Amino acid sequence: MYDDQTGSPAVSQHFQQDCCIVGGGPAGMVLALLLVRQGVRVTLLEAHEDFDRKFRGDTIHPSVLEIFDQIGLSDTLLQLQHSKIYGPTLRAANTSFNPFDFRRLNTKFPFIMLVPQSKFLDFLSREANKYEEFDLRFSSKVESLIDENGTICGVRYMGRDGVHEVKTPVVIGADGRFSTVRERAGLVPIKTSPAMDILWFELPHLPEDAASNRVLGGFGMGRVLAVFDRFDHWQVGYVFPKGTYQQVRSEGLESLRNSIAAIEPRFTKHVASLTDWHQFSLLSVESSFCPKWYRPGLLLIGDAAHVMSPVGGVGINYAIQDAVAAANVLGEYLKTRSTSIEDLARVQRRRQFPTKLIQWLQTAVQKRVLTRALGSTTATTIPLFVRLLFAIPIVRDLPAKLLAFGFRREHVRNVGQSPKVVATAANGAGLH
Ligand SMILES: Cc1cc2nc3c(=O)[nH]c(=O)nc-3n(C[C@H](O)[C@H](O)[C@H](O)COP(=O)(O)OP(=O)(O)OC[C@H]3O[C@@H](n4cnc5c(N)ncnc54)[C@H](O)[C@@H]3O)c2cc1C
Repeated sequence: MYDDQTGSPAVSQHFQQDCCIVGGGPAGMVLALLLVRQGVRVTLLEAHEDFDRKFRGDTIHPSVLEIFDQIGLSDTLLQLQHSKIYGPTLRAANTSFNPFDFRRLNTKFPFIMLVPQSKFLDFLSREANKYEEFDLRFSSKVESLIDENGTICGVRYMGRDGVHEVKTPVVIGADGRFSTVRERAGLVPIKTSPAMDILWFELPHLPEDAASNRVLGGFGMGRVLAVFDRFDHWQVGYVFPKGTYQQVRSEGLESLRNSIAAIEPRFTKHVASLTDWHQFSLLSVESSFCPKWYRPGLLLIGDAAHVMSPVGGVGINYAIQDAVAAANVLGEYLKTRSTSIEDLARVQRRRQFPTKLIQWLQTAVQKRVLTRALGSTTATTIPLFVRLLFAIPIVRDLPAKLLAFGFRREHVRNVGQSPKVVATAANGAGLH
């Protein structure tokens, strides 16, 4: 559909909502669920046609499980097929050791739940869809903001049948690391860590493989391997110095297979399945932080506001903590359509300190441990004093606590109401 006079796509519909969330990732979906529970009318626009997507991490941390416990949904969440991670195992040329274990923590959920992100997002959508206030629109890619005298009052998106507008007092940009909302709002992130590259790929589970309740961090010669057990296959990240992907490619698949098997000898047979570069996806790892997360009528949360380094795998946790903080601060005001820029600023103030702190820590680990290991031309070893240090309970429990809960654990302030039975929820007709 195009406008006869301008030649540009015609805006065919527009509707008013209390809040429009752009992006159906963990941040956007959790915020939507918490808001509709408070009676806020939410439209959520997701560019993809469903939640099925490339691997982007499957980790649900103890602090997130506690959030679902507060709203009475932890049992339902834990019914999804999942595995439990009790901690990391570090392997180097001289040793293999478990630096810490979540089971020592004082929490109802002393583990990281590993569940495919698509299943987690489906679960959130099913729960939110029990509320008539929830309006989820797939295949809806936001292209521009509606700006009236410097105040954002809606978005324009390309849907399956043309361009639409959503008018709303507050737009939430939860559209991830390449956020269109952030870019259109003129909010510019700054880089916060040195870059490195990761090749992600899958290896098959072989009949002789035992299930693993630990994430493996393996150190080889200038390479680091991260391995997660995903029930029917292994998800593997192969980390190497930034800008050397062409070198990795030119050395060939045989060399890559050997390098993986050298770090993790258990995979000597598995690597035979790696026969084509299409089996790998390259991720350039950079973390960033937006100095300002808001403008009148607009707030960024999750990766849109701060891309986290993969060190420690905390991106999903921090995105969800932002969502809880935003729901706590904004819920009541959104319902009465009286949100001010000061309320939006409060969300950033609450979340920026823990985010900056964890990013600082990630950068320190990246520089002191990873960059050193990646720059090494000899086999990496773990010094004895490190192992001795982690034998001290207070030292051992500190990283476990930080990973499990982050620097500031958010609690749902308004746990909301029970769902009204929505006729469309049962048959999924509420999904567009
Ligand atoms: C390969 C990889 C592995 C990772 N592993 C881990 C891990 O193990 N643990 C961990 O905690 N984190 C991990 N992360 C990071 C984690 O994925 C992110 O931190 C987290 O998903 C951020 O959530 P979010 O909701 O802010 O953004 P996202 O999950 O990126 O969601 C953004 C959503 O917005 C949609 N969108 C984008 N643009 C538009 C638009 N214009 N209009 C409408 N919709 C739009 C996207 O389709 C997407 O669904 C990993 C990331 C990658 C890439």
